[in-house]
Amino acid sequence: MDYYGSKISALIEELSRLPGIGAKSAQRLAFHIVNMPPEQVERLALAMTDARTNIHYCQQCFTLTDEDVCPICRDQGRDHHTVMVVENPRDLAAYEKVGKYNGVYHVLHGAIDPELGRGPGDIRLKELMVRLQQEDVQEVIIATNSSLPGEVTAMYISKLIKPTGIRVSRIASGVPVGGDLEYIDEVTLLRALEGRVAL
Ligand code: ZN
Repeated sequence: MDYYGSKISALIEELSRLPGIGAKSAQRLAFHIVNMPPEQVERLALAMTDARTNIHYCQQCFTLTDEDVCPICRDQGRDHHTVMVVENPRDLAAYEKVGKYNGVYHVLHGAIDPELGRGPGDIRLKELMVRLQQEDVQEVIIATNSSLPGEVTAMYISKLIKPTGIRVSRIASGVPVGGDLEYIDEVTLLRALEGRVAL
């Protein structure tokens, strides 16, 4: 039933499509938005369309950026011989927040998940192998999640890389099973990184 008129309902419906936003939160946000100053609403709408239009994958590591190559890949002060493989840009952000990792990254945008029918061709794995051929990489640290898909992906990648002679390691299993990296505290993340084991 349409209690609020179609414009509010449309806004609620759009908001409720966002991840983690249920019907109640969508309603609360919608009412908040219609009470915001018009300029602020415009800034919000503009920030969304601007981000959607201008943000794409970094040509090297495939994280999200509004430039051709992201600031991390461009940074010559970082160790480009060490590549940490993560599932998504949020995981990269979690490691950057800890601030103790000085290498570069490779973002897979997902994990191999047979249950969802997602295979090696559905993540940025081929791009990783191309990078390893073209760049002088000495160590690959696999930091996929400790969920089943994350572990499957880690094993798959290590098998692919082993024959190249490049050192492969896996972050230590201090990371709770099924826990998304972005929700893990910095101490745990740092311990996982420092306690990584060779595969
Ligand atoms: Zn990059």
